[in-house]
Amino acid sequence: MKKTTFIETISQQSGELPARCLGCLKCTAGCPIYPWMDYGPTRVIRLIQLGQKERLLTSSAIWLCVGCETCAARCPMKIDMARIMDALREMALKECYEAKEPNILLFHNLFLNSVKKRGRVFEAEFLGWYKIKSGEFFKDMKLGLEMFKRGKMPLWPSRIKAKGEVREMFKKEIARR
Ligand code: SF4
Ligand code: SF4
Repeated sequence: MKKTTFIETISQQSGELPARCLGCLKCTAGCPIYPWMDYGPTRVIRLIQLGQKERLLTSSAIWLCVGCETCAARCPMKIDMARIMDALREMALKECYEAKEPNILLFHNLFLNSVKKRGRVFEAEFLGWYKIKSGEFFKDMKLGLEMFKRGKMPLWPSRIKAKGEVREMFKKEIARR
C-alpha cells in the first residue's frame, strides 16, 4: 500500500491544499503574530511542501497562531492557514512532540475545555485557571485590566444556543482520533 506523504496527510486533515501556494507572502505580511513566530505562514507552507515534518512539529509557529484568519482573507489561492496550523498542532499532540513555548499546551487544553464546556470561550474563567495552573499570577496583569476595562473580559459567561452541538463536535473529534 502506498504510504501517505506529509503534505497529503496535512491536506487530508485540514481540507486545504498547501500545494497550491504561490509563495506570494501576502499571508505573512498580514499575520499579526508573525514577529513572534520562528516561521511565518508562507514558510510553514513551504516546509510542508518540502516534507519538513520534524521542523514544523517542533516549531513555535504552530502553537503561536491564534487562528485569526487574516491570512485566509488575504490569500489569492483561498488557502485557510488556520486550518493547516490546527492540523499541524493535532499531529504534534498525537505524536507526542514537545511544544517549544512554555505552558502553551496547558493554555491550549484549558482553552478547548472552556469551549467544550460553554460552547465558546469564557475568558475570565479560562485565564483564572491558566494563572493558577501555570503559577504566572502577575504576568500580563496590565493587559488583562485593559481588556476588562474595554469590556473584552466579561465576568459572566455568555449564553449560546448551540452548546449541545459544540459538545457533539468534540465527541466526534475524539472518536475520529
Ligand atoms: S490565522 Fe495564524 S497564521 Fe494566519 S494570520 Fe492569524 S495568526 Fe497568522
Ligand atoms: S497568501 Fe496564500 S498563496 Fe500567498 S504565500 Fe500565503 S498561502 Fe501562499
